Amino acid sequence: MAVEKVDVIVIGAGPSGCVAAAHLTRQGRKVLVLEKQIFPRLVVGESLLPRSMAHWEETGLLPALEAQNYAPKLGARFVRGAELIDLRFGENFTQGWTRTWQAPRAHFDKTAADATAAQGVDIRYGISAERVDLEADDRVIVRARDTHREHSFEARYLIDSSGYGGTLVKLLGLRDDKWPNPRMASYTHVRERDREGWKDAMQITFEVMAVDLWFWVIPFSDGTTSLGFVGDPRHFDPFKPGRPTAEAFSEMLARSENFRERFQDQTPLWEPHVIRDYSHYNERLYGRNYVLTGNCAGFLDPVFSSGVMLATESGLLAAKLVERILQSGAVDWETEYSEHIRHGAAVFRSYIEGWYNGDLQTIFFSPTMEPRVKEQIISVLAGYVWDMQNPFVKRHDRILSQLAAFIKAGNGATIDAP
Ligand SMILES: Cc1cc2nc3c(=O)[nH]c(=O)nc-3n(C[C@H](O)[C@H](O)[C@H](O)COP(=O)(O)OP(=O)(O)OC[C@H]3O[C@@H](n4cnc5c(N)ncnc54)[C@H](O)[C@@H]3O)c2cc1C
Repeated sequence: MAVEKVDVIVIGAGPSGCVAAAHLTRQGRKVLVLEKQIFPRLVVGESLLPRSMAHWEETGLLPALEAQNYAPKLGARFVRGAELIDLRFGENFTQGWTRTWQAPRAHFDKTAADATAAQGVDIRYGISAERVDLEADDRVIVRARDTHREHSFEARYLIDSSGYGGTLVKLLGLRDDKWPNPRMASYTHVRERDREGWKDAMQITFEVMAVDLWFWVIPFSDGTTSLGFVGDPRHFDPFKPGRPTAEAFSEMLARSENFRERFQDQTPLWEPHVIRDYSHYNERLYGRNYVLTGNCAGFLDPVFSSGVMLATESGLLAAKLVERILQSGAVDWETEYSEHIRHGAAVFRSYIEGWYNGDLQTIFFSPTMEPRVKEQIISVLAGYVWDMQNPFVKRHDRILSQLAAFIKAGNGATIDAP
């Protein structure tokens, strides 16, 4: 079988793969992206973070995305009963982008992939990477299959950005740590009939329905809205085996204090999806001639919309390090890649844990939140989780529990508390 040779093979044309491929192509490398699906394809993850904007910008994908008129996301609103907090990225503590988008990912990812291809990346759709040979010191062989036949490709480096596919994790049997407290999610899209009648209708909102159950409302500029529940499986009792998920979803909606009226009679555009056990983190993010990026490396929880940001952060960083190797430079993957990505994930993990144990909800809904505390928390939620000047990054593993305890003891939410 003929073997096609390129510099770098990227598996997956999601956000992580596109950013990686675009960067390397801009450095003059011959890059091949293998994508098993045909775009547009459905994928969850529509609430983005400002930190990713710099990644789209640096890889030349920003103009195409800006041209799509996606709904601007300027912050996030959290509601619990009658309580409400607006966190605006404009009040951000860290320097950087203060806006992003809320966008239907099928359209968004196709736009990003088309813009990547327009830069000269060879993206092949409908072809699935099925086997890899990493035995040689200086090259990798990937065997892939489309509906007709098998193909062989050779490259100097392999970037696995296959997301939930976890191609190398499965093929190489890499240890994939499941996260304790597995959660569950169900989501769909609706086309709203009377959106204009609702106050702040385009505001992205997260409703606390129980300390470990929340509901997302992500309105898009095309008139559709993404709705989803995430939480402990015990809250998902309406989803009984054999019952249509649309019925169960509607029963869940009836429990929403803030949104049942707005969405109760809206018909889902597709049967709501139900997923569970999606949280994992890989022990090892790289090996000889390969690196894992994006969801392949790990994904924790949707609550703070960190997935795409970590996907683009890791895709871009991996591509830069691969480029250095191709120029015969040395890379310490442990310190330069793994530690950086693990740090970002660890900060989010603290916030995710702080969310589900109620500490962050105590902080968010405290009536006395000091502006500086708010700015520094916003910074984390905008994706600036590498800013060590921010105490809410630096002391992420303890600051939330200390601050929540301070508030519960009757004190204000002040930065000097812990
Ligand atoms: C319930 C839920 C809600 C979420 N909400 C958000 C959110 O609001 N905001 C956010 O930022 N993130 C969210 N996420 C996370 C988000 O979905 C992912 O983090 C993000 O899509 C990861 O991007 P990626 O490029 O790594 O992978 P993907 O977007 O999954 O892309 C990987 C691509 O690889 C392809 N592929 C897989 N296997 C192969 C193979 N063998 N050969 C060739 N191609 C292959 C796939 O077809 C796919 O197109 C959510 C996740 C869940 C579970």
